Amino acid sequence: MASNRDQITLECTRCKERNYSTTKNKRKHPQRVEYKKYCPRCDAHTEHKETR
Ligand SMILES: [Zn+2]
Repeated sequence: MASNRDQITLECTRCKERNYSTTKNKRKHPQRVEYKKYCPRCDAHTEHKETR
């Protein structure tokens, strides 16, 4: 049985640093997701976009 959980990487939309990796439910979120996360390089909370 195939898993619905996909490994994704979260990239800061400001400096493009890849700060987080997580999983998401592809069926629940078919589109690319964005999360507000802390970026150590920007030293601020920024939008982090899903990337592969
Ligand atoms: Zn950043």
